[in-house]
Amino acid sequence: MKVPLEQLKREARQSQKLAEREMQLASSGLADLAKKQSSISAEEYTHAIDGLADKLRVLRRKLEDSKQEEALLISRSRQRAADLNELSGFTSATQPEFQRWCRTRLERVLIDYMLRSGNVDTAKLLMEKSNLEHFADTSLFALVMSTEHELREQHSCRGALHWCAENRGVLRKIESSLEFELRLQEFIEMIRAKKSSEAIAYAKKHLTAWSDTQLPRIQRAMTLLAFSPTTGCPPYKHMFDVARWDGLAHEFRMVIFKLYSLPSQPLLHLLLQTGLSALKTPACLSDDPSEHNRNCPVCQTDTLGKLAQGLPLSHHSNSNLVCRISGEKMDEDNPPMRLPNGYVYSLISLTDMANKLDGKVKCPRSGEIFSLADAKKLFIS
Ligand SMILES: [Zn+2]
Repeated sequence: MKVPLEQLKREARQSQKLAEREMQLASSGLADLAKKQSSISAEEYTHAIDGLADKLRVLRRKLEDSKQEEALLISRSRQRAADLNELSGFTSATQPEFQRWCRTRLERVLIDYMLRSGNVDTAKLLMEKSNLEHFADTSLFALVMSTEHELREQHSCRGALHWCAENRGVLRKIESSLEFELRLQEFIEMIRAKKSSEAIAYAKKHLTAWSDTQLPRIQRAMTLLAFSPTTGCPPYKHMFDVARWDGLAHEFRMVIFKLYSLPSQPLLHLLLQTGLSALKTPACLSDDPSEHNRNCPVCQTDTLGKLAQGLPLSHHSNSNLVCRISGEKMDEDNPPMRLPNGYVYSLISLTDMANKLDGKVKCPRSGEIFSLADAKKLFIS
């Protein structure tokens, strides 16, 4: 909900600024002309008036474009609000309309995931197929991706600095030092290129403005002038490290997400983690794979288990017994059966096995073979 709203605020602010500036220029132009009226020819006078009128026409075209963009953002907000409103109307989780709503939510979440990870074409296909264009903030993610690429691959701060200049007010409000970090990087690159005097002039112009909050770092940056890019001295070695570019790209993404109130992680991860935290047990963390339950997503250590790494264990007031063979719950309908070697499996799994092995069962852990008749039913108390 917040992304189109923020974009709308920005658009309105920009067109207001533009209109104020152009109107002021036009009226001061007119005032100038009035003063000069007696000293210039009628032809010059008409020419000047035409010039002013042309500028106002350009302004009108720009404002019309901006109005169109605003209308699009308003309609997007309206559609998103209607979707939330629909949710409040459901009375049961089994309602077919609710199922459809959930399906659409899943697609929205997948689109968010794809846009964040740069799979824009696939995201667009899904958007078109499901008619979800109004839910995707494509232009915002495109800006994030292109600026990140510029920082990471081309080692250039141009796009990011341009964005900072456009958003200086809000960046100050959230106390972001992104612009300082970018300026510092440009300064470091000048030293790397052995352009010391250029670097000093740059620092005077762009770094000293931050002396209220970043003085120690500015001082350290100035000391950097005495070091070569191959230095082994820890703080300066770190400043010359090219990995700083990756850090800047990450910082840029985090700041822009914060500004638009977007979660720093994909929605897909957040939703999956909610589910995974309800399933996580101490057995999932065991190094011994035989302790894992094959039906438990947290036990899949290569995939979903990774997402569950930082999550707390779920709280179970009642324990469930789960059959190691089938992963099914063992209860009175599917009772636990104890083999003569002490291992316990569910009746259904052992019966299935006995049907295939001529009345015999093979313990998956010890490999021993018993007759199904030797298994004893256990009672849970
Ligand atoms: Zn598990």
